[in-house]
Parts: sequence; structure tokens; C-alpha cells
Amino acid sequence: MTGIVQNLQHTRERIAAACAAAGRPGQDVTLLAVSKTFGADAVREAQAAGQRAFGENYVQEALDKIAALADLRSDLEWHLIGPLQSNKTRVVAESFDWVHSVDRFKIAERLSAQRPDHLPPLQLCLQVNVSGEASKSGVAPEEVAALASQVARLPKLRLRGLMSIPEPAADFESQRAPHRVLHALLRELQQQGLALDTLSMGMSADLEAAVAEGATIVRIGTAIFGGRPRPASA
Ligand SMILES: *Cc1c(COP(=O)(O)O)cnc(C)c1O
Repeated sequence: MTGIVQNLQHTRERIAAACAAAGRPGQDVTLLAVSKTFGADAVREAQAAGQRAFGENYVQEALDKIAALADLRSDLEWHLIGPLQSNKTRVVAESFDWVHSVDRFKIAERLSAQRPDHLPPLQLCLQVNVSGEASKSGVAPEEVAALASQVARLPKLRLRGLMSIPEPAADFESQRAPHRVLHALLRELQQQGLALDTLSMGMSADLEAAVAEGATIVRIGTAIFGGRPRPASA
């Protein structure tokens, strides 16, 4: 087995163990393989090992990879998890299946208007800033409800839930805290009548804490593809 195949298997085992520890069925949690900075070959290898959902941060890099993997398009699900500027919404609406990082109504509105009719609705999460001033992206927790009710009314999008990128924390309990906040926010929206089912939270270092707090999608890069050559924000 190659590194990627072995790492994928190990990651699936981590998810299964975390689900078991939380008393949750294993199929509750979808593994999103974050392939940013890695090439199409790495995606191809993971796909051959049964991986379907891939996450990308940078729009142009993702479009190149999606094109290089066009032969596998129906076996792949592409998720944008990085910041989205309004001048890139059209290509994103045309090429992706999911966007996790919407934090402004204007972006959602453009994605809805630009989603081609022949494609199914674009699946959407709102990114929430659960770490206060430490992070620049994400809607503030107290503004999520208003944004969600506006976005939920847009055609050609399906609002699925919430996403967050908390500040890194070393111990399990500190990792759980921001995930618990996101889950509580999702519950509030559900109580307001929105049919939401997705909590996109947890990365390589805090997968277990996220699953313990109800994650339904974990976004895993390093643990599958290895260390990235440069910082993700570069
Ligand atoms: C890079 C990235 C990940 C994956 O992080 P790892 O620590 O490599 O697992 C997950 N989510 C987002 C938004 C990212 O940018």
C-alpha cells in the first residue's frame, strides 16, 4: 500500500473509533479529503482507494485539478473550503458541488444566480467565526441566524449547515469547546425551522474532538496527504 492509501485507511479508523466513543453510527460522519497543494495524481490515488469527497482552498488550483480529473467527474464530489471572492463565484457555481465558506449574503446570492440550471442545487454551509478576533473570516455567531434565513430562501442553493475553523488548541477539552458552540448554533437554527443537517468541523489535529461534538463532515488534509510544502494561507 502507498502512503496515501494507508493514511486514508488510518483516518477512516480514527473516525470509526471516534464515532464509537461518542455512541454515534460510523456513517454519520463523512470524510472530506483536503487535497489543496497536492496534485491531481494524489486525488486519483485516493479516489482509487474509495475516497469520493475532496476539499480545496484555492479556486484556480481547484479548477485546474477538476479539469485534469474530468474523466472521474461523476465519481468525485468537489468542496470549496477556502475564502471566496465575488469575482470567482461564477466559476465556483459552475464547477463545485459544495461551498463551505460562505459568510456574506452577496456571495450566496451570486452563487445562486450563477448556478447553471442543468446542475443540482449547490450545497452550502455558512462559515462561522467561533474564535472571535483571532480569525478574519466567518460570520459572527450573533449574525448567523439572520444570514441563514436569507440564504435559505435563495433558489439553486441548498443550505445544509455550518462550518468553522477554530484556533488550534492542544488538549482535547479545549478542542471541544468551539465545536460545542457551533453545534449549539446549528440547533438554534433547526429550532427556528431550518432543515439543516451538516456540521463541517474538525481537521487532522482535532478530528476526535469534532466528532465528539457532533461533526458530520471532517476536513482532513495532512493526515491523508502528508505535510504541505508551504503554509496553507500562503
Ligand atoms: C487545510 C484545511 C483543512 C485541512 O487541515 P489539516 O490540518 O491539514 O487536516 C481543513 N479545513 C480547511 C478550511 C483548511 O483550509
